[in-house]
Amino acid sequence: MKTVLSADLGGTKCRFALVTEDLAVIGERQIPTPDDRSAFLAELSSNFSALRELAVEHGMPAQAIGIGTAGVVHRGGRIIDYAPNLPVEKDCALAEAIEASLGLPVTLINDGRAAALGEYRQGYASGSDPLLALFFGTGIGIGLVLESAPYAGVSNAAGEIGHTIFRPDGLPCVCGRRGCYEAYCAGGPMCARALQELGHPPEGEQSWSVGAIRAAAARDARCAAILEDCALAAGAMVASACMLLNPQAVVLGGGVLKGWPELRKRIEDFAQGWCSPVVLRELSFVPSLGESDAILWGAAAETGKLW
Ligand SMILES: [Zn+2]
Repeated sequence: MKTVLSADLGGTKCRFALVTEDLAVIGERQIPTPDDRSAFLAELSSNFSALRELAVEHGMPAQAIGIGTAGVVHRGGRIIDYAPNLPVEKDCALAEAIEASLGLPVTLINDGRAAALGEYRQGYASGSDPLLALFFGTGIGIGLVLESAPYAGVSNAAGEIGHTIFRPDGLPCVCGRRGCYEAYCAGGPMCARALQELGHPPEGEQSWSVGAIRAAAARDARCAAILEDCALAAGAMVASACMLLNPQAVVLGGGVLKGWPELRKRIEDFAQGWCSPVVLRELSFVPSLGESDAILWGAAAETGKLW
């Protein structure tokens, strides 16, 4: 059986696994994302090495490495253009660095796009085309699969709908602008807003989470307002994306939906009420099957070495 090594590099954690041609995830490893570049590269190297040995022990040596990463990747999948949440420099030649240490060919792909490709391969909406995947995590991850391939855009930067405008001059966003959708419906900014407006997290909690905001919303108007802003922003963003792209399926996933499961219906109801009948006619909303494993599936598929 063919296998590749796969990784999901995010701002909070990094995951690594061996992925088979059936897209089974084996030997998963997870670490907190290191703060500095050399520790980050050393962790990548040691985790990939351990998994390469595991593949050999299973009698199915890995053919390549696929990496789904936060940030924007240069066309060609060799260089991270920029990734504000990872300890890498502008135009980081990550593929070359990993190849030098592991001796296997490396392909990089944006994480949202990898997740969309993974869901297209074996999610609940597998084979739906176009397939739009939206992940409400610490930030907003998005990917569009069009004619069986991830849509890239002219400079490989397509998909940043989280940083389009929800409220001009609204809340500050990690991108440096104000009022982006992400500032209202991603988990990181929602929790930061709860901390700013309410101070320390509820008793028994280490920090604010979307689940804690949801639990507090029944008795605290500030938490209720955070949720209402989230529902409006998420609904408007998804409805706008559907009108723009006319997808066959929308896959919704991410930690915000885990912390506040009612959000899924709020988003669907908004889209059903807003989008035109012709856009809704063949559109289905489905949950993510893979969640963060979808990134591992898609990054593995992107290597082109599994089939
Ligand atoms: Zn932004």
